[in-house]
Amino acid sequence: MPATVSARHADAAELLRGSLVTLRRRCGKPNCRCAHGDPHETPALSYSEAGRTKTVTLRAEDVPAVEAALSRYEQARAQLEAQALAGIRALAARRARRARP
Ligand SMILES: [Zn+2]
Repeated sequence: MPATVSARHADAAELLRGSLVTLRRRCGKPNCRCAHGDPHETPALSYSEAGRTKTVTLRAEDVPAVEAALSRYEQARAQLEAQALAGIRALAARRARRARP
């Protein structure tokens, strides 16, 4: 699959961590509408990596797929968290049984 196609049609199992933000900027062209009106708006994914906040700018048509991938990540993270908590409870229960005289 060509890179442009795979980038546009993100894998249905893709996960993304971070949050959707809107970048606003004035391009600096004196005759542009943004000089006196609203600044240009670009959707972006903001995420942290190794303690630093980074952004990936998006096209408007990419936003729904990015939202879906963020949602999949949150669901997977919540599931993993629940499994880890169940593991802790099982460990604690085994310890409690063994501690009984
Ligand atoms: Zn402008």
